[in-house]
Amino acid sequence: MQLIFEKSKEGRGCAILPEMDVATTEFPVFLKRSTAPKLPQMAEVDISRHYTELAKCTHGVNDGFYPLGSCTMKYNPRINEEMAALKGFTSLHPLQPEHTVQGALEVLQLAETYLCEITGMDAMTFQPSAGAHGEFTGLLLIRAYHKSRGELEKRRKILVPDAAHGTNPASAVMAGFTVVNIPSNEQGCVDIEKLKEACGDDTAGLMLTNPNTVGLFDQNILEITKIVHEAGGLVYYDGANLNAIMGIVRPGDMGFDVVHLNLHKTFSTPHGGGGPGSGPVGCKEILAPFLPRPTVDKVGDTDWSLAWNHQPSKSIGAVRSFYGNFLVVVKALTYIMSLGQQGIREAAQNAVLNANYLMHCLSDLYPMAFDRYCMHEFVMTLEQSKKEMDVSALDIAKALLDYGIHPPTMYFPLIVHEALMVEPTETESKDTLDQAVCILRKVYEEAMEDPSGMHQRPLNTPVRRLDEVGAARHPKLRYEF
Ligand SMILES: *Cc1c(COP(=O)(O)O)cnc(C)c1O
Repeated sequence: MQLIFEKSKEGRGCAILPEMDVATTEFPVFLKRSTAPKLPQMAEVDISRHYTELAKCTHGVNDGFYPLGSCTMKYNPRINEEMAALKGFTSLHPLQPEHTVQGALEVLQLAETYLCEITGMDAMTFQPSAGAHGEFTGLLLIRAYHKSRGELEKRRKILVPDAAHGTNPASAVMAGFTVVNIPSNEQGCVDIEKLKEACGDDTAGLMLTNPNTVGLFDQNILEITKIVHEAGGLVYYDGANLNAIMGIVRPGDMGFDVVHLNLHKTFSTPHGGGGPGSGPVGCKEILAPFLPRPTVDKVGDTDWSLAWNHQPSKSIGAVRSFYGNFLVVVKALTYIMSLGQQGIREAAQNAVLNANYLMHCLSDLYPMAFDRYCMHEFVMTLEQSKKEMDVSALDIAKALLDYGIHPPTMYFPLIVHEALMVEPTETESKDTLDQAVCILRKVYEEAMEDPSGMHQRPLNTPVRRLDEVGAARHPKLRYEF
């Protein structure tokens, strides 16, 4: 398709500006452009068609099955959008006087109450804008905690399992810690002996996600958190995988001290493409004094107040302006309230059921990385077919596009070779799963019949196989006139 600059025609436009009703004034010369900006010039109908065409070239949750492991690409009920679009929410200004925003403060307070209940935490901040931002914030809390006890100088190490999401070690380094890698055992979980060896009085904490990034629940979790606590460290819960356990088991009860949630995964905000996210951080009482401000407090019987002023000196300070992406919190709260306690639990149960059903229906053809029940996602390995027939995980993923399925996550986690990580989510029906099974089996057969043909896939998409490495290394970010 043509780029918007190629569609542009000199003199076209779609702006009708009202007549000027104030005095005009000249800009100083030094502020003026020397040449006009080269913006595309188009009629409104052509712009509309352009973006519709672009939308048709991509694959979203509304187009079909989107089993992108680790990302929880589930369907997000429209009622969330309706609530977040209410004028009373969208027209707010963060600097409005407190008494005019009582409803918004109550939203934050309610969301905090529910999410603390779901995670087993005592207090929460909504400032962080994404999961990784939440990790960074949580680690700053851990840092502030050790500092307040005069132990920061010696506690410089954050332990991170080798299966961790790449953001974990990155956040730890950004927060000023040194990362120590903890190897996984054969079951894909934390190697307890290696953890014990690594723990000591230089340990600041451990970052863990449970279920972990290969979709397995680490049953030694109580022992793991105990080992870290006994060494004087704190335990961080990467809550991006909460979809599998919400309403069933709580990080707080597993011994975690601080968690981040991905509202844009588990709590039903559309994501991908860089839209606004939210990575609230919850913590136990011992870390609450260090939380960013403002937090929402209750004064008197009915009024909500922002604790700007009564800011304890221990706070790590703001990690973002104001209260974070407030409308994402509105969506999460709508989701939680519309599902209710039972519905939240069922969502997690169905996410796990769907993943196990899909894994079961495929495991005779596709080798699974771990031979046990999974949680909300599972990992297949194409190592053998890569070796024997030169059919890689990438080839299978690309062939799925020909049948309208978004590829699973590829080549992650790093501890599994030729990995395809599948997360169906709870919002898919059995029909959709059965159809996906048919397609995955068909693609496997096609690979058996014509291994080298797989390198050409996809065949039916708006663009064929792309040079992904080239695109990452030499991105073309501007149009060359
Ligand atoms: C998605 C994810 C993150 C990071 O979240 P972002 O919002 O993308 O920054 C961290 N850990 C795990 C396990 C994840 O799946």
